[in-house]
Amino acid sequence: MTTVEEQVSEYYNKLLKRNAGEPEFHQAVAEVLDSLKIVLGKDEHYADYGLIQRLCEPERQIIFRVPWVDDKGNVHVNRGFRVQFNSALGPYKGGLRFHPSVNLGIVKFLGFEQIFKNSLTGLPIGGGKGGSDFDPKGKSDAEVMRFCQSFMSELQRHIGDQTDVPAGDIGVGGREIGYLFGQYRRSSNRHESGVLTGKGLTWGGSLVRTEATGYGCVYLTDEMMKEHGDSLDGAKVIVSGSGNVAIYAIEKAQQLGATVVGFSDSSGWVSTPGGVDVELLRDVKEVRRERVTAYVAESEGATYHSDGSIWDLEADVALPCATQNELDGNHAETLVANGVKYVAEGANMPSTPEAVEVFRAKGVHFAPGKAANAGGVATSALEMQQNASRDSWTFEYTDERLKEIMTTIFRNSADTAAEYDREHDYVTGANIAGFKKVADAMLAQGVI
Ligand code: GLU
Repeated sequence: MTTVEEQVSEYYNKLLKRNAGEPEFHQAVAEVLDSLKIVLGKDEHYADYGLIQRLCEPERQIIFRVPWVDDKGNVHVNRGFRVQFNSALGPYKGGLRFHPSVNLGIVKFLGFEQIFKNSLTGLPIGGGKGGSDFDPKGKSDAEVMRFCQSFMSELQRHIGDQTDVPAGDIGVGGREIGYLFGQYRRSSNRHESGVLTGKGLTWGGSLVRTEATGYGCVYLTDEMMKEHGDSLDGAKVIVSGSGNVAIYAIEKAQQLGATVVGFSDSSGWVSTPGGVDVELLRDVKEVRRERVTAYVAESEGATYHSDGSIWDLEADVALPCATQNELDGNHAETLVANGVKYVAEGANMPSTPEAVEVFRAKGVHFAPGKAANAGGVATSALEMQQNASRDSWTFEYTDERLKEIMTTIFRNSADTAAEYDREHDYVTGANIAGFKKVADAMLAQGVI
């Protein structure tokens, strides 16, 4: 008789072979399987009917050519992806990432994480993810538009408001969603607002969607700090990144009385001991699409650094909001030595397994991305609700719903961790809580 633990390890070894060259996907699966061993120790039926194997195999993977013509008339060929991972709880839901690092393994890791994240929101959405190795940096508006049109010419046959509902992620914001939606509308001859989220406010978008991932991450952080008798008021916070998630995490943290002491982009990091001028940052990054050096040039007291890392700063709270594996074991040691007691992931899987281990060993309270950054996709689901009822809600009402969702996610993760004798282990709590809902639906729906 093999033990559940042996079965899971054997399955994981097979997965490594069948999905060679996809380290980020392996990393995401390994972390979830680690938590699932704890569930299977209590409830063996979760290993029945090939459930774990089915959960780790996407329902469908689409890879396609995306040819486009630049402003000089040169033809470029990128690769497009959509991984439709799991639709047991609802239509596939998850963002599109446009970044040169995008490959099948990255999209699979993101799609896999999305299943549990979306389940945790409590809303009826399955998990999927997509994107392209297209680099929007340095491209003209017209080039981005032509790329988006080419990308959607193929993607449109695979999506729909009851099938798969993409949104933004790194490199895909309001501008790109606009061009994608335009092309979808033209080729389908349908103004089907529910097919994409993150839309403009006059054509089916939802208030708060732009702010939601960053705000949600801070709402959950605040909840986690309260649980341990602390508060963001007066705290020093490091926020890595300076994209959509980072900007609104900075804004909300400062609204709640924190001082954000630094942010970054791929060119370097900025120390801001007196706090961040959010209006200026938004103008530099979102309107002018410039590097963080442009912020430093126009802001008093901010300094730019291209050496060391943002994780060298002293703070109480760290919110990694840039990208996967940006915070490693050494960074985690430095953060702990410099006084950080709380970490919440605004990005998807920004902490390496070694970093998470350091946080666990040193008693740092750690909220994983599946829980901490679920506010974005949750508000996308609220956008879908508004589209389905042809209604639009006020900012206050939508923000209140977001806050409630983040509080519930935190409580659910904390309570599940306690139920499995892992008090305060929010990684295990979030993985198990997210898993059980999907698993119960999959078992009820049979082997498909
Ligand atoms: N890309 C975001 C995420 O990682 C949002 C996805 C969505 O709104 O569908 O969850």
